[in-house]
Amino acid sequence: MPQAVTCIRDASWIIAWDVSRGEHVYRRDGDVAWADDRLVQVGGHYGGTVTREISGRDRLVMPGLIDIHCHPTQTPIFKGFVEEYGNPRLFFSGRQHFRQSFIQDSAAQYASARYGLAEMLAAGTTTIVDLSHAYPGWLDLLSQSGLRVWVGPMFRSARWWTDTGQEIKYDFAPDLGRAAFAEAVSVMAEAERHPSGRFSAMVAPAQVDTCTPELLIDSVRLAKDTGRPLFTHAAQSYAEFNGMARRHDMTSVAWLHSLDFLGERTILGHAVFTDEHPWMQWPTREDIELLAKTGTTVAHCPTVFARDGTLLHHLGAYMDAGVNIAIGTDTHPQNMLEEIRLAETLARVAAGTRHTTSTARLFHAATIGAAKLLGRDDIGRLAEGAKADIVLFDLARPEMQPLRDPLRTIVHSAAERAISDVFVDGHQVVGEGRVLTIDWPQAARALAAEQKRIGDGVADLDAIAPLSLPMLAS
Ligand SMILES: [Zn+2]
Repeated sequence: MPQAVTCIRDASWIIAWDVSRGEHVYRRDGDVAWADDRLVQVGGHYGGTVTREISGRDRLVMPGLIDIHCHPTQTPIFKGFVEEYGNPRLFFSGRQHFRQSFIQDSAAQYASARYGLAEMLAAGTTTIVDLSHAYPGWLDLLSQSGLRVWVGPMFRSARWWTDTGQEIKYDFAPDLGRAAFAEAVSVMAEAERHPSGRFSAMVAPAQVDTCTPELLIDSVRLAKDTGRPLFTHAAQSYAEFNGMARRHDMTSVAWLHSLDFLGERTILGHAVFTDEHPWMQWPTREDIELLAKTGTTVAHCPTVFARDGTLLHHLGAYMDAGVNIAIGTDTHPQNMLEEIRLAETLARVAAGTRHTTSTARLFHAATIGAAKLLGRDDIGRLAEGAKADIVLFDLARPEMQPLRDPLRTIVHSAAERAISDVFVDGHQVVGEGRVLTIDWPQAARALAAEQKRIGDGVADLDAIAPLSLPMLAS
């Protein structure tokens, strides 16, 4: 079958990957063309036969973003409930109360994910790592979305909760961990066999503190045997750090290292509470160096932490030490451009005048940093031979004016509002700002109905999660 060739003709701006410099660069007034799923021209003039031509006038062409850490089954349905818990007792006890009361069934998970996948596409994300507990219809929904996906079915040995917010309690049931591991093994294999060809798998023991050492060790072995990347949540809370220190007399990061968990294909969400964090009463300063030395990636998702009044200290120090950073959303909104903006702003807040981050470093993290962990040199960049995962911005939109430096304007001002079109694997998934693969307005109505259905079954919901303003009688 002849190849379908699409060409964006004379794009005003291109964020191209310069192979020799090893960085993203601007190019002006050139073509971006792809045959089927692969780019054949980035910049300059494409002289080959074209099946579809798109005017690049007043357009910026950018590589699609990679959301390295998201939970679409959970986060969109929590909208309006969880944003303002803060951390009155240093840990998310208020949110925990909500999570123990607002229990989703698989219909609610599905509605949340369907909304969330559309939300990510509309915001210029083309690849995601979907960390979910397996649910019916998962792969079919991902396939329908058109996204490129690393499927990470999470498993763990213990249920956890907190009464005081100071200490995490666990109900270890290793057999359940085994059963969930077995299920994850089969879901991962199914994802890799999927005819869409856009799915890969990630080995995802859910949290460092909820898995038995045996389960973590088996996860390391599975990842090594299959070549899949390896993930866990670790160093993500004050209480987790202290609990792991009591359990093992080591930091969470050091303990994972002792299990051979760290490495070039390993990613930790979120490595905030390392021995570098100023709250930690711990004598060493070794965790960041350990992450750098082993080539471990950190999934940095600042919004969810900032809502609790916490932040990573500090991103520039991690980067300067050589830690590979990738960016994820972890909560709603699942908007990578807003997450990049907050990551850059908070890195400056945490570092003060010694800050060393920049828009370019954060954009690199959200594209190349993520691709490195995923073991791919053909995503997160616009270069000949790379996948046609592409985002177009309409530069004529008022949000994009004045236009001295479009990436800065996108990250610090416009975010996704000027996105006109998105392509994944050469296929169009967003056109004229509208998601084409999922009926997002309909998905939003379905999600609202599911949120109401689950919420109606929770006694005292307004006491658990009060409204932001008092409600008076009409
Ligand atoms: Zn997470």
